[in-house]
Amino acid sequence: MIVLLLGPPGSGKGTQGRRLSQRFHIPYLASGDLLRRAIEQDSLFGREVRQYIERGLYVPDKIMVPAAIEELNKLRREQGVRGAVLDGFPRTRDQAEALDSALTAEGTRVDRALLLNVPREVLIPRLAGRRVCRSCNASYHIDHKPPPADGRCEVCGGEVIQRVDDKPEMVDGRLTVYFERTLPLVAYYQQQGRLVQIDGNLSESDVTGSLVGAAEAVAAAAAQRAPAVASEGASRGAHA
Ligand code: AMP
Repeated sequence: MIVLLLGPPGSGKGTQGRRLSQRFHIPYLASGDLLRRAIEQDSLFGREVRQYIERGLYVPDKIMVPAAIEELNKLRREQGVRGAVLDGFPRTRDQAEALDSALTAEGTRVDRALLLNVPREVLIPRLAGRRVCRSCNASYHIDHKPPPADGRCEVCGGEVIQRVDDKPEMVDGRLTVYFERTLPLVAYYQQQGRLVQIDGNLSESDVTGSLVGAAEAVAAAAAQRAPAVASEGASRGAHA
């Protein structure tokens, strides 16, 4: 099962994506994490993409698509499954079409795009108060879930920071880019009957419940289509 989390910055894709990945035993690919890791490592790729991230702009498709598809394949190979939770990739229509062709070639596809709807006026304070662990990307919020007083992540001990692109002067621009460039993807998946809309303005656990419900429906439909593959996945404890 391959599910894509769609939604504006601050809609909870990271938190929810990790939960879905654990729940269904499939890898979690967050394109933003992939890019930030490359920047941390100061790789050639990291140096190339840094200029875009720091200005709140999308990394061009011709750089983003091969990197994301390579990472997706690597994660699935490592875990020995065909499924994945995608967060932040694809983010443009061209990216979605490129991913569709790659997946069609191997006989899979994005089963569902799960859109987290959160009003803009809620997103701005969520992003402005967000703090993240530099190492494991665990997410905090200065009001609702403050990071430990020593500034160290409670999960891994890494440094908790504010992302450059979460600074108040960047947030508005990022939201505008999302509404212009990513919203057309919603229509793309809707036309193909692959979109599920989720109210993302509820408690984290309620949002998780809705997402798990939607993903279980996908897994059940896949099991009906291909009982042999599904039972093989179930015996490994995975909806792969
Ligand atoms: P995120 O962590 O998903 O909010 O992504 C942070 C930033 O990484 C975005 O604002 C973009 O600059 C860049 N980025 C992440 N994913 C993509 C993508 N699929 N295409 C282009 N740029 C991306």
